[in-house]
Amino acid sequence: MTISQTNYQAVIENIKKSALETGRNPKEINLVVVSKTFKRQALEPILKLGHRTFGENKVQEAEQKWLELKKDYPEVKLHLIGTLQTNKAALAISLFDVIETLDRPKLAVKLADELKKTNKEIALMIQVNTGEEQQKAGVLPQEADDFIQYCIQELKLPVKGLMCIPPFEDEPSLHFALLNKIAQRNGLKALSMGMSGDYQTAVKLGATEVRIGSAILGGR
Ligand SMILES: *Cc1c(COP(=O)(O)O)cnc(C)c1O
Repeated sequence: MTISQTNYQAVIENIKKSALETGRNPKEINLVVVSKTFKRQALEPILKLGHRTFGENKVQEAEQKWLELKKDYPEVKLHLIGTLQTNKAALAISLFDVIETLDRPKLAVKLADELKKTNKEIALMIQVNTGEEQQKAGVLPQEADDFIQYCIQELKLPVKGLMCIPPFEDEPSLHFALLNKIAQRNGLKALSMGMSGDYQTAVKLGATEVRIGSAILGGR
C-alpha cells in the first residue's frame, strides 16, 4: 500500500467509527476525495482502490485533468467545490455531477438557463457562509431560507442540500449544527461539511458528505 492508500483506509475507518458512535449508518456518508492541485500520478493509487468520487475547486483544472482520466475511469463522479463564474456554468455542467457552490441569484438563473439546454443530470448544493466572512463565498445564514426556496420553487433547480466551509479559527461544530438546522427546516437532505481537520465532528453532526484532501493525499 502507498501512503495515500493507507491514509484513505484510515479515513474510511474514522468515518465509519464516527457514524456508528452517533447511531448513523456509515453508508449514508459519501467521501469526496479533494484532488485539487494533485496530478494524475497522485490520484491513481486512490482510483486503484476503487474510489470514484472526487472534488475540484477550479473548472479549468478539472477539465484538463479529468477529461483525460475519465477515459480510463468513466464512472468517476466529480464535485465542484470552488466558486463558479457564470461564464463557466455550461462547461461546469458538462464536467461535474454535483456543483456544491451555488451561492448567488445571478448564478442560479444562469444554471437554470443552461440546464434547460442539456440532458445532463446534475445535483446542486447551496453554499452557506455560516461564519459570515467577508472574503468567503456563500449566502448568509439569514438569507439562506429565501435563496433556497427561490432556487427550488421559482427556478426549479435540482438543489439537494447545503455546503459550508467554517472559518479557520472557529470551533467547527457550531457551523455544522447551524448548516444542519437550515437544511432541516428547508427539507434538504444532503449536507456537505467536514474537511481533513474536522470531518469526524461533521459526521457526528449529520454530514452526508465529507470533502477530504490533505489527510489522504498529503500537503498541497
Ligand atoms: C481544499 C478544500 C477541501 C479539502 O481540504 P483539506 O483540508 O485538504 O481536506 C474541502 N473543501 C473545500 C471547499 C476545499 O476548497
